[in-house]
Amino acid sequence: MHMCDVAAASLGQVHLTICAECARYEWTDSNGSLLDPAEAIASAYGPFPLIDRLAAIGAPGGLALIYRVPARHRSRLDVLRTGVWTQIHPALFASQDGMNLMLAPTDPFVSRSIAAAG
Ligand SMILES: [Zn+2]
Repeated sequence: MHMCDVAAASLGQVHLTICAECARYEWTDSNGSLLDPAEAIASAYGPFPLIDRLAAIGAPGGLALIYRVPARHRSRLDVLRTGVWTQIHPALFASQDGMNLMLAPTDPFVSRSIAAAG
């Protein structure tokens, strides 16, 4: 029986656990307490500059927001799969290409608030 036996990845002050097998995600603090996904994403990826906004065929919401991740923070991308959209928030999917974070909002309101923050 599958038990989501996946290690949490440390992304600065917060931790993200992703189970690709059952498409489940969980944001926690260093004590293992559950965090609000929006606040956790702001903590983990919020400081990175938005460099592009693309109409992206294949992105879950049709839009991809591209953020440049400084070299010293690239390990924060390792939890995400390259070329695969992974859900990390009720209305947000993420991917990476080794250098950049890609976010695909599925809700226009989330899209506006994230784009405004970038
Ligand atoms: Zn699982």
